[in-house]
Amino acid sequence: MAYNKADDIKAFDRKVWLSSPTMHGEEIAYVKEAYDTNWMSTVGANINEVERITCEKIGCKYAVALSAGTAALHLAIKLAGQELYGQPLPGHGTIEGKRVFATDMTFDATVNPICYEGGVPVFIDTEKDTWNMDPVALEKAFELYPEVKLVVMAHLYGTPGKLDELKAICDKHGAIIVEDAAESLGATYKGVQTGTFGKYNCISFNGNKIITGSAGGMLLTDSEDAANKTRKWSTQAREAAPWYQHEELGYNYRMSNVIAGVVRGQYPHLEEHIAQKRAIYERYKEGLKDLPVKMNPYDADNSEPNFWLSCLIIDKDAMCKQVRGERDVCYIKEAGKSCPTEILEAIASVNAEGRPIWKPMHMQPIYRMNGFITRNGNGRAMTNAYIAGEAVDVGEDIFERGLCLPSDNKMTAEQQDVIIDIIHRCFA
Ligand SMILES: *Cc1c(COP(=O)(O)O)cnc(C)c1O
Repeated sequence: MAYNKADDIKAFDRKVWLSSPTMHGEEIAYVKEAYDTNWMSTVGANINEVERITCEKIGCKYAVALSAGTAALHLAIKLAGQELYGQPLPGHGTIEGKRVFATDMTFDATVNPICYEGGVPVFIDTEKDTWNMDPVALEKAFELYPEVKLVVMAHLYGTPGKLDELKAICDKHGAIIVEDAAESLGATYKGVQTGTFGKYNCISFNGNKIITGSAGGMLLTDSEDAANKTRKWSTQAREAAPWYQHEELGYNYRMSNVIAGVVRGQYPHLEEHIAQKRAIYERYKEGLKDLPVKMNPYDADNSEPNFWLSCLIIDKDAMCKQVRGERDVCYIKEAGKSCPTEILEAIASVNAEGRPIWKPMHMQPIYRMNGFITRNGNGRAMTNAYIAGEAVDVGEDIFERGLCLPSDNKMTAEQQDVIIDIIHRCFA
């Protein structure tokens, strides 16, 4: 029998979100300041301040405020592409037809900008220790495609990847790193902030991130030239001339001073948000320790995640049968076992929001023709296990057995207890 909402559990009156904006009051004061001084534009004190605060917090030389993290990734990839291959003619991408190695298990915003510039993402499988790009698979990928010069890597759910190993491999092969730190703002690896390990990096202030502007993002770099190019490209690429003079392709990607006001008001609360998210993670870990599940792992010796989302993964032998098609899913309930679909339904039944793990890019129909590299080489090779429909790579396995739990920093301990209780009932 499938999970049924137990009669003794009352659904929450107000929805418990996966991760929603948490405002504190200062935000509206900075927005009002923008309004009162009439800097209702993509210029103003809030923008200057958030760029300065970001450099100070992250430890990078330049931060350029943009309309979204995706815009920042686009310009980061364009900067790398121009550095490697020069400026293309209008209508052509900077990395047209070039392979780019990318994180496989991530939000599609990590990899889509590669295609905006005409590049061809080749997905690198995930490792089990931090759920990020696997250095062993990356090395394998360089063996197969030694010509590749660009690697785009994300830090999933706020957990830093194996940066020493990944960086050493990229350095060895002379490849530029673009770091997607959209989910990991404030997380550190060996005491250093994520968003500083690549040459051109990105953070996001999307509504569900650890701090938000309602929207917005930033490109981070230590290169003055790159920062200047980003400022110019993001404001339609005007040249210094008395008229609108254009020698390069431009974009309308700059952050609004109103949005920057919200970000400015949020920054003083970044550490507080991280502490709340960590407490949520610890509470789940303790509350679920008697079940055949594990929390999303991290390298406690070398890294401090920002704990943006708490996730769990069900032990292999405690998975009931679950079959996912492209758009639908079904499962067969078994005593003592469960699956992400059942748990997500159970969480939804009490008016809370969970989510499946990011479906790996190599499994997405849009990227079905793109390369995918695992520790063993070609991840799309027709092995017997592959033909039998078993998960043959780490990303697919985590997608199958894992899920994101409600991780909102306004969730109360009592509400979290209900969610923990309901997960227990799924394994009854
Ligand atoms: C949110 C996110 C982005 C995109 O940021 P936006 O500001 O929403 O454009 C990119 N990559 C990852 C991994 C993200 O989670």
